[in-house]
Order: sequence, then structure tokens, then C-alpha cells
Amino acid sequence: MTKTKTKIYGFPKYFCDFFFGTQKEAEEYAALTNAQVVEERNSWGITPSISYDWYALPPDHLRAHLDRNHNFERMRPFPILEAEVEILGEFEADFPNGICLLANSNWTFKKSCRIARTFNSPEELEISRAMIDAPKLSDTASRLINDYLGADGGELIGVTLEQIALIDSCSSEKILTSNSHPYSGDQIDKHHCQLKNGETLTLFVKSCGYFEGYSWQAFTSKSEAFKELRAELRARAKADWTALECWECGATYTEPGHVEPGQMGCDRCNS
Ligand SMILES: [Zn+2]
Repeated sequence: MTKTKTKIYGFPKYFCDFFFGTQKEAEEYAALTNAQVVEERNSWGITPSISYDWYALPPDHLRAHLDRNHNFERMRPFPILEAEVEILGEFEADFPNGICLLANSNWTFKKSCRIARTFNSPEELEISRAMIDAPKLSDTASRLINDYLGADGGELIGVTLEQIALIDSCSSEKILTSNSHPYSGDQIDKHHCQLKNGETLTLFVKSCGYFEGYSWQAFTSKSEAFKELRAELRARAKADWTALECWECGATYTEPGHVEPGQMGCDRCNS
């Protein structure tokens, strides 16, 4: 199957501090939005820092929305951006305005593989569908995508968005639930999925709910999912191991997690 690239457009939505892992990424983004790169302690930021939402609507439509709407007055000096993506399908999204597109994307859209079809009007939905047609994702695929995008740092490990877009149906079972956590606890679910191309895909989804949100990771390997859970449980158990120097043996460490609370024991004297 040939992959066709489709143009989508970025709307300057709000001021928002965000950070890039590399200077190159920050510079690329800054160049697009007429911003300056600012070096932070362990990352790069930009100023002014504008967050863009992506739309499957014509650029002149976005410009008109920007010029007309009082809420976006401070955003008017910023450009409408343009990008090319590969559209994977249409789905009903929890955010922002119902019907969205799912796309394969490069770094610029890491968090925005979700492309809105409308700001809020049914007429826009028609305009958008005339501009970009896309197959509907199944309910199962839509649910997984919403969970992935809604999570804090949702991750796909060993599975691609493209494969998830192909999911037709699935049968699921909980293979682990733990209530050790104050909110909703750790959970691993196994999803045995039937794909639209006749193949099957087994996913192990590890999630954990907490006060402000939830974490979510999909693995194709059960042992990888459990390995990640064990690492997290170990890290949580050592959350109060913050001292860097052990008074018992004199060892010093560069990061927390090695010295017992009270500083009378550490990884070195316990081993
Ligand atoms: Zn020690």
C-alpha cells in the first residue's frame, strides 16, 4: 500500500511552557513560530512559547477564525503552520471537538497525531471531510487511541500507531490488578486483537491511575510489561531513599535511591 501525504494546518492555540530534548528540535520549532531558543538546565525552551493544535481545515479558514475570535487576539501575530502527515483514519476523540483524524507524524507532532476536524461547527465537519477523506477506525482502536493520547506520557513499545489503526475488534482480560496504590492501582490487561488485514496482534497494556491522571503503556511482550512494572514498584518503594551519603559505610552516590532512610545502610553495605 502506498502512503500518501496530506497537508494539515496548525492553529496557534495558547501560550504554554514546553521543552525540547535537543537543541535542534527547539531550533526547528522556533524557526517555524518566529521564536527564540532559550537554554534551560537540562533541556531547551523557546520564547514566546506557543502551542499549536492541528486541524484538517483549510488555512484561510483557520486565519479567519483567528482574526474573528476575541479569545485568540494575542495569537494573531503568529503564523498558521503547515505540515504533511500520513492519515491513518478518523475516530471519535475525547478531545478536543469530537471527530478527529489519527496520523503518523514526525517529531513536531509527537503529541499531536490527533488532528481536529472542527472547532465546533457541523459545517466545518463537512468542509473538513471534503478536504481529507479517511476510513473510520473501529471502536476498539478508537478507545485504545484515546487512552494512549489521554495519558501522561502514554507510550507504544514494539507496536505502531499504524497497527493500532488496523485493529478491528478485540477480546480483553485483566491479567493483573493491584490495589497497593492509593488511587486506582496498577493494572495489566491483555488484548487479543483481530486486524482488518486478517492478522492478529496481542497487546499488553499496563496502566496506573493516580490523583491527577494515569499512565498508560502498550507492549507486545508480556515479559516486557511485567519488567516495567517491577522497575516502577522498586522505584516507588525507594521514594524516600533520598540521601546520597551512607553514614554506616561512608559510601556516597550521585543519585537518590541507594541510601536507606536514616542513612545507616545502603546498597553497598547491604550487598
Ligand atoms: Zn553503606
